[in-house]
Amino acid sequence: MNNDTRFAGTPSTSHPVCGGCDNVMESETGGTVISFGSALWHIECFRCAECGNRITADADLRILANGSPVCANCTYHCGACNQKISDDAIMTGDESYHPACFTCRACARRIEELVFAKTIRGIYCMDCHRKRVARSRRHAEAKGKRDKSAEGDRKTKEKPQDAGLGTMQSKL
Ligand SMILES: [Zn+2]
Ligand SMILES: [Zn+2]
Ligand SMILES: [Zn+2]
Ligand SMILES: [Zn+2]
Repeated sequence: MNNDTRFAGTPSTSHPVCGGCDNVMESETGGTVISFGSALWHIECFRCAECGNRITADADLRILANGSPVCANCTYHCGACNQKISDDAIMTGDESYHPACFTCRACARRIEELVFAKTIRGIYCMDCHRKRVARSRRHAEAKGKRDKSAEGDRKTKEKPQDAGLGTMQSKL
C-alpha cells in the first residue's frame, strides 16, 4: 500500500523484516507476504510457534506476546475444565485457565489477586490457603503430640501439602 514513501538516498532499511526468519522481506516483487500482528511474514515462515505447522493468516489464530502466531490446534486448554480457551486466558506459568474457571476450590470465588496458592488439589485464594495451612499445621501438631504420648516409634506423619505459590504472568 504505502510502498512509495521511500526517499531517494535512504538506505533500504525501510524494508520490513520477516517476523519468522528476520530476513528483509523481498519488497514489492517478492510474492505474497502475510501481515500478522505488527510484523510481516514470508508465507513459508508463517508457522505456529507451538507445533511448527504452516498456518494461514485467516485461520483462527492466537498471537503470543512476542508477536508469533499459534494455530487453533495449539491454543490453550483450561487447566480446570479442559476446554479450549479462545478468548482471554489466565496464565499461571505452566497452565492456563478460563477467567471464569479460575476460582478458589474452597470458597468458589473468582481469584483476582495476582497471588494464589496452587496445590495438588487445585487452586485456592490466599485467604483460604492460609486457613488451610493453619488448620493442617494445628492438625499436625495435635497429631504429633498424640503420637508422642502414645507410641513414640510409629511415624505416620502426613505428607506436607504440595503448595507452591503461583504468580499470574500475563493476561493475553
Ligand atoms: Zn521469513
Ligand atoms: Zn500449532
Ligand atoms: Zn475452563
Ligand atoms: Zn477461597
